[in-house]
Amino acid sequence: MKEFKLIEEQINSCMLCNLGKLRTEESWNSVPGEGPLNAKVMMIGEAPGKEEALQGKPFVGKAGVFLNGVLKNSSIDRNNIFITNVIKCRPPNNRNPSYEEIDVCNSWLAAQYELISPKLVILLGQVALKGFFDKKLKIGSVRGKMINYLGINVFSTFHPSYALRSDVGNQIFRKDMKMIGLWIKNNLKI
Ligand code: URA
Repeated sequence: MKEFKLIEEQINSCMLCNLGKLRTEESWNSVPGEGPLNAKVMMIGEAPGKEEALQGKPFVGKAGVFLNGVLKNSSIDRNNIFITNVIKCRPPNNRNPSYEEIDVCNSWLAAQYELISPKLVILLGQVALKGFFDKKLKIGSVRGKMINYLGINVFSTFHPSYALRSDVGNQIFRKDMKMIGLWIKNNLKI
């Protein structure tokens, strides 16, 4: 799709915040996202890590390997999903993105969302929740629930990196993904 290529090119040359400038100096790639442009499911993480910035692809590092395993276990085919992040360039040392960076980068996420027009959005962690909803919602209060937000089905769960650090988080994340896998099968037939 022509418009989508254009968004990707604009992301790849974006200098709207300092992360874009760092990206050039350290010759890291931006990570626009990947997956079918007619995907029924869009999954949104936080920001690329080192491996993602090296490859220019989302969730290909440690958290990604873990996520792939959990998706498989939940009968969710990653190839059917458009996966992206709220922040398209790697924050130095994987620090949390600032509110300003989230605000600036959100315009790319909104443009991608408009074009893909998914039936379901899966938010991974607090930054994805902030970026997508633009509200002071806490992940603990909405995770594991399907929310209808302006006509869109939105499901939030923990970030896979948190699930890797916490035994309880790990169990909950796996349970949530199983639940959403079943919902996808029953409702989206994919
Ligand atoms: N963590 C994220 O939030 N996104 C990635 O792409 C990789 C790790």
